[in-house]
Amino acid sequence: MNRKAKEMNDKGKGHGVTDLGNNNFRVVSSTSGRTYRVWVHAYGTNQMACKCNCRWGYYTGSRGRRVVCSHVLAVQQYLAGQKTVSAWSSQQDAERQRRPMLDLGQGVTITVR
Ligand SMILES: [Zn+2]
Repeated sequence: MNRKAKEMNDKGKGHGVTDLGNNNFRVVSSTSGRTYRVWVHAYGTNQMACKCNCRWGYYTGSRGRRVVCSHVLAVQQYLAGQKTVSAWSSQQDAERQRRPMLDLGQGVTITVR
């Protein structure tokens, strides 16, 4: 799934995001029209933990892992506002951008420019 970081990020760009407060977001999928709930929690330096109630998110989150799916990436783009979020499947690729980085877990790092 690491290789799919960019693919997931591109997919996430079409989703509709609403801020529900308290680090909760509602994400409406551009492909299925389904509504998902994403929860974000920043911790440590340049790291963030996210959860999502989509099928993938439920599967990985229930195993105590940080969730990265197109819904989570849509929220990252929402939080970045006018800036552009790119998703990378390796820390090295992300570092090469020389931009602010955020480690989301699952081997995915985003950069903001
Ligand atoms: Zn999701």
